[in-house]
Formats: sequence, C-alpha cells, structure tokens
Amino acid sequence: MSTYDIIVLGSGPGGYVTAIRASQLGFKTAVVEKESLGGVCLNWGCIPTKALLKSAQVFEYLKHAEDYGLSVKEADKDFDAVVKRSRGVADGMSKGVQFLMKKNKIDVINGFGTLKAGKKLDVKDADGKVTEYSAKHIVIATGARSRELPSLPQDGKKVIGYREAMTLPTQPKKMIVVGSGAIGVEFAYFYNSMGTEVTIVEYMPKIVPVEDADVSKQLERSFKKSGIKIMTSAEVTSVDTSGDGVKATVKTKKGEEVLEADVVLSAVGIKTNIENIGLEAVGIATDRDKILVNDYYQTNIPGYYAIGDVTPGQALAHVASAEGILCVEKIAGMHVEALDYGNIPGCTYCSPEIASVGLTEAQAKEQGIDIKVGKFPFSASGKASAGGNKEGFVKVIFDAKYGEWLGCHMIGAGVTDMIAEAVLGRKLETTGHEVLKAVHPHPTMSEAVMEAVADAYDEVIHI
Ligand SMILES: Cc1cc2nc3c(=O)[nH]c(=O)nc-3n(C[C@H](O)[C@H](O)[C@H](O)COP(=O)(O)OP(=O)(O)OC[C@H]3O[C@@H](n4cnc5c(N)ncnc54)[C@H](O)[C@@H]3O)c2cc1C
Repeated sequence: MSTYDIIVLGSGPGGYVTAIRASQLGFKTAVVEKESLGGVCLNWGCIPTKALLKSAQVFEYLKHAEDYGLSVKEADKDFDAVVKRSRGVADGMSKGVQFLMKKNKIDVINGFGTLKAGKKLDVKDADGKVTEYSAKHIVIATGARSRELPSLPQDGKKVIGYREAMTLPTQPKKMIVVGSGAIGVEFAYFYNSMGTEVTIVEYMPKIVPVEDADVSKQLERSFKKSGIKIMTSAEVTSVDTSGDGVKATVKTKKGEEVLEADVVLSAVGIKTNIENIGLEAVGIATDRDKILVNDYYQTNIPGYYAIGDVTPGQALAHVASAEGILCVEKIAGMHVEALDYGNIPGCTYCSPEIASVGLTEAQAKEQGIDIKVGKFPFSASGKASAGGNKEGFVKVIFDAKYGEWLGCHMIGAGVTDMIAEAVLGRKLETTGHEVLKAVHPHPTMSEAVMEAVADAYDEVIHI
C-alpha cells in the first residue's frame, strides 16, 4: 500500500492548490482525480466560460466598430469555432496543472476515490482495478455539480446544465435561462450576443439577487437594452420536452405563462459531490449538503479535512484555493489566521461586468449601521469615455463614525480587475480618507474608486 503525508481527493482549484502548498511545505503528497486535472473551474467553469465571453465581447466590438471610427464589412460568428476555442483554452489550463503537479513532485492518481476509516482510501481506476492508499492527512475537495430542481429535470439536450451550455453542438435560436446568479447571467449575455433570443426567469424580485440593488437595476437596464427578456418573481413550474423544442410553464404574480424555446438552461445553483465517497463509513458529519469543518477545515474525524465547494463557504474558486492553503499550513503547524468570509470578492463576467465585496447598502442598513454612501458613474470617467465604456458605476459604503470600508459594488467594463483594491483596503483596515488620499493614475477606470470614496465624503471632483 502506498503511503503519503497528505492525499487530496479532487484536483479542482481547491485540491490542486492544496497539493502544491503541501508539497512546498515538505509533505509527500498525492492528488486523486476521476476526470481532468483542474476540476470544474479550469475544465467546466471559470476558464471556459471566460473564453466564451471573450468571443462574445470581441463580436460585440466588431458589430459596433463604427462607434470607434472603424468599419467591418460583415461581422459574423462561427459558433462551432467559438466553442472549440473555449475547449482549447480549458485543455491548455488542465495541461498546465499537469505540469505543476510534476514540477512539485506530486503523484497524480487517476480514478474514483472512496474514503475509508483509518485514514485510508480506495481508488478505482478506469479498468475497475481498486488500489488502497493511506495518508496521515486526507483533504476532501470533491467539489460540486449543477443542481437539479424536481420541476426542471435535466436531460442534457433540451433541459441542460452548465456543462452542456458550453458545448452545445448547434446554437439555439431561443433559450430560457432559469436563475440569474453569476452563471445564469454570464450564459444569458453570451448567447444573446451570439444572436440567440434569451429569456431569463428569476425567482427573486431582482436579477443577480445577491448584489447591491443599484447593481441589479443597472444590469437589468443594460440586458433589456441588448434585447434579453427578463422575468423576475417568476418560477418555472414544469417543462414539456415532448415536441420539437421545450415548453416551460412559468408562474408569475400575474398568473401562468407558457414560454417556448429550443433549450432551457437550468442555472439554479450547485449540488455538492458528497455521495458515495465514503463519508458515512468514516463518520464524517454533514449538514444541508455540506461537509462540516472548523476554522482550519478539520472535519469531526481527526485526520480528515474538507475544503472548497463541499464546505459551507462561498462556492468560488479563489475561496477553495485559499481554504486549501490555510488547511495545509495549519497541518504544518504554521500560525494561520482564519479566513474572513466577509471579505471575499464576487465577480460576474457578463458585459457589463459586476464585482463586489462586503455589505450591500441594504445589508448595512439592516444591521443598523450609520453609513456614508458614495457613487461615481463611469459616464464621468475620461478613460471610460475614451474606451466607449460609459455604462456603470462604482459604489462605496463606509461606516459614518469610524470610516471603515464596509462594502464596494461595481458594474462596468473591467471592474472584475478593479475590486482587488477594495479587498486589500478592507484587509488593511483602511479608512475612506486614506483611499481618497492615495493618488490613483489618470486616466484609468480605477479613478472611479477614488472618486466614489470622495463622493461619500462630499469631496468628489468630476460630478
Ligand atoms: C459555469 C461556471 C462558471 C464559474 N465561474 C467562476 C468564476 O468565474 N470564478 C470563480 O471563482 N468561480 C467560478 N465558478 C465556481 C468554481 O468553478 C468552483 O467554486 C470551484 O471549481 C470549486 O473548486 P473545488 O476544488 O472545490 O471543486 P471542483 O472544481 O468541483 O473540483 C472537484 C474535483 O474533484 C473531482 N472528484 C470528485 N469526486 C471525486 C472522487 N470521488 N474521486 C476522484 N475525484 C473526484 C472532480 O472530478 C473534480 O475534478 C464557476 C462554476 C461554474 C459551474
């Protein structure tokens, strides 16, 4: 039986990063993976979707070339080639992880892993051969998959999840996107840009429901302008796939409506991969579809840890990676600080992009905090005007008494690269005045952060 210091089950951004940090810390490490290295993020999530979105964005620029004084005879797309490019990008990233495993002397064990008591696990390879491994520490990072609603069973053809949505053999003419979280609106934007007629059906009263209300309003305005139909406070109660396309019954406040489409994309969240991996045999506690862990990702059974989407934190790649690093640093006896889940940035990569961190205005008010709010529209930004990206704004929320930066919410071009300023500022416990007095380069979109802070303190210059 092969024995390791640390075995990581699953090689997503949680698992492979955990393995690399473990190896850096001198642990003999292996990672077990049943599919491709890199998990959902690199193969079916963050990366291939961003490749699709880039194609959509370039296509939009081509269609509007005359806005920049240029002419493009006929902007056209090749859906197949767009999908192929996205798959190529994902494959390249997965190969990159293969290289990193080799470089860090991490053993990659291909197959399906099942946990056993006594810090052991069985791995069944593609030929059905089972091999037993043991480790001093086992980190569970098995991730998640598309969640299925009973009213929306996925057949992979007419009612699909995110995997099928990024590899459809032909472009649908009409698509219904159920759910308007990050995944739903990214696909809605992509398909609408490609020329598909898209309708979003959202159960909550606003799209991107977790975002600040002003951000939701701006995205709704922008999406409607681009031709996406939006139904909020609406629920798909059933789908009929018996005919050529799909008929979806949607319940709204006004009554029931039947929508027709070629495809329905179910983007209603995720379901963790915690079945059939031996949790029960080991006695590892779970609650509401998540593995329970302490601040350092130890489960209730010594020697077993869990990180990433299988645990209760935000289901995001950067959270999974941060948890994995912290987990093995704690195992190594380092002094580590528990992750601050209140300072995790969330990004959505449709156009306009969305990025946010901390409390929304409504949440701050609900908590009874006396706040100062500042907002700066990109329509007043020189860089945004020059780039033809005047849509959107930066909104900041500060504690009125102590100047603590409570929240930052952005919508517009490139904001997913700008949010790190707020994350770092909050981590360093900066005050509004310190941000205001940190000189930002001109002309940049990032000036909008400084100006929004200035607005909160009645010192804004350009509006
Ligand atoms: C369409 C889409 C877009 C997304 N975009 C973003 C984004 O832009 N930014 C962001 O931060 N997050 C994004 N996410 C979320 C992100 O992909 C996940 O949060 C992240 O992948 C979670 O990492 P993980 O390591 O916990 O699990 P995963 O990435 O799910 O990896 C788990 C791995 O474990 C393997 N595995 C499972 N069970 C076993 C077993 N028994 N034996 C062996 N191997 C096993 C799986 O095959 C998989 O490779 C997106 C998700 C989707 C679906």
